[in-house]
Amino acid sequence: MAKMGQDRRNRPPAKDADLAPLSPPARGGVKRAATVPPADAAEGKPFWETKTLEAMTAAEWEALCDGCGRCCLNKLEDEDTGEIVLTRLACALLDIGQCRCSDYPNRFAKMPDCINLTPEKVRSLAWLPATCGYRRVKEGRGLAWWHPLVSGDPETVHQAGISVRSFARSEKGVKEHNFVRYIILDFDDDA
Ligand code: SF4
Ligand code: SF4
Repeated sequence: MAKMGQDRRNRPPAKDADLAPLSPPARGGVKRAATVPPADAAEGKPFWETKTLEAMTAAEWEALCDGCGRCCLNKLEDEDTGEIVLTRLACALLDIGQCRCSDYPNRFAKMPDCINLTPEKVRSLAWLPATCGYRRVKEGRGLAWWHPLVSGDPETVHQAGISVRSFARSEKGVKEHNFVRYIILDFDDDA
């Protein structure tokens, strides 16, 4: 199953601002199965066009993650207003070069607040990026040309500027009260 980023709402709030580390990511298929069939032979259409999120196999579910890494960026929540802002600080387990979880099988043991992405969470988590493969399918928007399932090339998500490879930095060594220094504008694309 896909997973999500850590929910850090229980951590102490940032001191320099009224913002507290929140829940990052919803991390989908960080590990893509190589054997996922690109199309449903019976329908002649790819599975993401014929199946609901609930109906997908585990391999199909994992393959739906485009590998952007956006959901593994830390977010901060204003404890008074509930406003959520994005930072460019990635979860310590994210391999930024690959935009993949470096220990996917053990992510929940190593990052207890990493969220397990499910169809229900895809519907309820407002901060899931508009580009996210799960969100796009849930909203009936299909997958974009740069999605590896469409392009057949895992590099296209980076080439299209969708992944966080070019600007993320690890949260390692950054004190939580300094997270506010890494706030960035939220993604405004709906690619
Ligand atoms: S543990 Fe892995 S999947 Fe979870 S937020 Fe961190 S990098 Fe992403
Ligand atoms: S498609 Fe991107 S935002 Fe969605 S789960 Fe995968 S890495 Fe996270």
